[in-house]
Amino acid sequence: MTTPLRFASGSLVVGIVVVGVKAAAWQVSGSAALYSDALESLVNVFAALMVIFALRTAAKPADIEHPYGHAKAELLSAVAEGGLIVFAAVLILERAGETILAPHLPHHPWLGLALNASGGVINAVWAGVLGRSGAARRYPAIAADQAHLIADVITTIGIVAGLSLAVLANIPVLDPLIAIGIAIQIAVIGGRTILNSLSLLLDRAPPQDIVARINSLVSTHATGAIEAHDMRMRQAGRSSFLEFHLVVPGTMTVAESHIICDRIEAALKQEMPGVIITIHVEPDYKAKHQGILVG
Ligand code: ZN
Ligand code: ZN
Repeated sequence: MTTPLRFASGSLVVGIVVVGVKAAAWQVSGSAALYSDALESLVNVFAALMVIFALRTAAKPADIEHPYGHAKAELLSAVAEGGLIVFAAVLILERAGETILAPHLPHHPWLGLALNASGGVINAVWAGVLGRSGAARRYPAIAADQAHLIADVITTIGIVAGLSLAVLANIPVLDPLIAIGIAIQIAVIGGRTILNSLSLLLDRAPPQDIVARINSLVSTHATGAIEAHDMRMRQAGRSSFLEFHLVVPGTMTVAESHIICDRIEAALKQEMPGVIITIHVEPDYKAKHQGILVG
């Protein structure tokens, strides 16, 4: 098993334990807020399953059926995860709506809170393990997992504090209000995840600073050529594809222009390992006198 896959499997096991503890917290208390936290943890379990699927699929090399590789599997799984999060938010709102009509304090509140808090402690410990191992620094999927865990721990702290206040000050309506707050928070996260992943699936252009860096690398390493234009770049998960036209003097031999192409490719690949570059060579009358002039 590869390292990120091992950690993703660890997250799955931790997630299942946390769901068990938080579901028990909800069962003993009947609290809408604890229900929302348990449901959120259940989404994490599905998310961990999808991360495992995505890591396995995305790691597959390109084949005849998928010549551009399988990296977009990561984006697809992120869209599905975002959908699940939004669905969980809807379920929480439904439960909170029922409770807010007839608010009541949780039964056995301190047992429920203790169980819920222990789930939060397990999450915090696992987030610490992911951080210390260095896996979060090397693998985006694990980093996302860790960020999600930390957000969950903060949510749990908020729930425990808010529900304690509800019990101590006898404000039953706080329970469904906390649940509504959580539903809104995770709906926003889920919605953002969906929109961002869909935009990447539609081959969103790279950020401006990366475009500028590519332009300057091409400009400095294309000595002998005249200009580069019609540059396009797209990203599919961890793979990226770059293509552009390179205008050279019409009398230049194919061999000479190929040397220039290889030099540009080497410079780009040094900064962006794994980028797949396609260069279309053209004679000088195709020059547009715009785009990237060779410096
Ligand atoms: Zn052209
Ligand atoms: Zn070549």
